[in-house]
Amino acid sequence: MLPDLERLIHLQDIETRTGAARRVVAAAPERIAALDAKLADARAGLEAAKAAAADNQAARRTADKDLLASQQRLEKYKEQSMAVKTNTEFHAMQHQMAAVKAEIDQFESRTLEIMMRADELAAALKAAEAHLKAAEGAIAAERRAIEAERAAGEDALKALAIERAALVGQISPRLVSTFEKVARARNGQAMARAEKERCVVCQVRLRPMVFQSVVRNDDIVQCDSCQRILYFVPPEPGEHASTTSAPQSPAASGHS
Ligand SMILES: [Zn+2]
Repeated sequence: MLPDLERLIHLQDIETRTGAARRVVAAAPERIAALDAKLADARAGLEAAKAAAADNQAARRTADKDLLASQQRLEKYKEQSMAVKTNTEFHAMQHQMAAVKAEIDQFESRTLEIMMRADELAAALKAAEAHLKAAEGAIAAERRAIEAERAAGEDALKALAIERAALVGQISPRLVSTFEKVARARNGQAMARAEKERCVVCQVRLRPMVFQSVVRNDDIVQCDSCQRILYFVPPEPGEHASTTSAPQSPAASGHS
């Protein structure tokens, strides 16, 4: 194979690995921000559960106070009813006592509701605490993994830059510039394998003369359509020869 062609294939490999490492490094802050958001959600959930429990306790204190006040009023009415002299006064007092008793019934059932709600809220608080604890553990582990990936990506980028500089020094500048031009235009991929008289990346058919030249791997040939630099990987011994455009049906393969 033409040494420059071999170096360009190597350069493409470096570029591809560089692109992958850059994506890992670039994605890290967003991934960490997503973890922070998850943790913030878990913390907010716990705060909400605490606030709901505190509200419930405040409601309970108010309910207890209301109930006690009504009970005291009822006691007072009972004492007063002992002292009434007329039937009319007595009936009026009975009427007031019945009203206070109804109020007490109402307050008692409200207290019961608050107590039942308190049990639910206590369970929810416990669940929110457990959820936060689990999230903190999982998120810390995920964060360490992301940081490690980012560090590995940064190390890889440094090593790849050194490898690239050394390699580029061995390729003719004109060819490097062609490679870079195509890479810029083609999403980082400047090289394309040719197979069965086609450029495997853009799938455009190559002229037979062009394909034969690519098969020899002894010249720099660009795809007419996508401009990528073409190369040919000879089939492994025993593999169906792909230097021709013969259909590769299962029946046709194997015995050639
Ligand atoms: Zn092409």
